[in-house]
Amino acid sequence: MNVDVILAAIKDVVPTPAALHEPLIDGNAWAYVKDCLDSGWVSSVGSYVDRLEQDLAVLTGAKFAVATVNGTAALHCCLLLAGVESGDEVLMPSLTFIATANAASYCGAIPHFVECEELTLGVDPIKLAEYLNDIVDIRGGKAVNRQSGRTVRALVCMHTFGHPADLDPLIKICGELGIVLVEDAAESLGSMYKGHHCGTQTSLAALSFNGNKIVTSGGGGAILTNDEALAKKAKHITTTAKVSHKWNFNHDQIGFNYRLPNVNAAIGCAQLESLPKFLASKRHLAEQYITAFENVPDVKVFKEPKHATSNYWLNTILLDKASTSNLETLLEATNSTGTMTRPAWNLMHRLPMYDSCPCMNLEVSENLSARILNVPSSARLGDL
Ligand SMILES: *Cc1c(COP(=O)(O)O)cnc(C)c1O
Repeated sequence: MNVDVILAAIKDVVPTPAALHEPLIDGNAWAYVKDCLDSGWVSSVGSYVDRLEQDLAVLTGAKFAVATVNGTAALHCCLLLAGVESGDEVLMPSLTFIATANAASYCGAIPHFVECEELTLGVDPIKLAEYLNDIVDIRGGKAVNRQSGRTVRALVCMHTFGHPADLDPLIKICGELGIVLVEDAAESLGSMYKGHHCGTQTSLAALSFNGNKIVTSGGGGAILTNDEALAKKAKHITTTAKVSHKWNFNHDQIGFNYRLPNVNAAIGCAQLESLPKFLASKRHLAEQYITAFENVPDVKVFKEPKHATSNYWLNTILLDKASTSNLETLLEATNSTGTMTRPAWNLMHRLPMYDSCPCMNLEVSENLSARILNVPSSARLGDL
């Protein structure tokens, strides 16, 4: 592999220096934040929170959206609402951000890592079906891991770097086994799977508006659901489980202060208005990378899966299997010359707190994580 050729191809597309993903705060953000500051409604109650929830429902087609303080909190509540209890197992890819595994741990559950496929970078439905067929018994309508004796309550599928996982077969597998499918859609705002927005075809999904995501509210997240009862519960447990009353402080269960401040929601509302522009710009940037790397040997630019329209949150250069030994050199060469690149996350089953969790054969995940190089992907680099 010729590292200089790869470096040159990246520098053909983006200026130096370039961050991996920086926010582009534009449009009405200043006006909406000023409105919060002027009115004093800066904290956990205010009209921008309601508006953000409505705007998200309209944008995604989900019936309900509940804003949260961050994506991890949204994911934690999704799992609680999915019925995840202490001692349950939660299936999830090992190739994911730490929040996916931590959210299961916060419920007292045990992450159980499953394999990804190269086509989508998400959970491999064929291997998952075979695996569950081997290890799961149905007892009293529940999926039970025959090896551990624990209930397999949920599967979290994650749409890696904004590329939708193959949802249809996952929905089918989970439906047959009585496993709740939850989407970690933190990276996939604006991504479509067969014409449906990610996070709207399953019972619960989590979004993130962290500073590095396609749309940011400074920090924030949301729960998407089509189920009115779940939406009400989501609102309740994320807002300290307070029973509405003119003056009494009454709480009917242990809730969380996972409320999104209004000032953050205000930024989020403005950012959502810019999302169509960001999506166009990021698609353009992806096309530029694809063109620049067309004739570069030993690597390819990851393209959106069939049946999907990705948001291209992060652009990924995928090294050939024979070139994995060059990943460190590439990271060094780019980062030391002002082009910020990052590898994939360390796989969850390699981390000390999760290395004894159950897992299936993770050959492909291991392989992918040694081949992924994420390159500068900020919306402003799309040059539209
Ligand atoms: C960003 C992200 C989250 C949640 O992030 P917060 O920083 O808590 O908003 C969860 N899962 C994945 C895959 C993410 O990329």
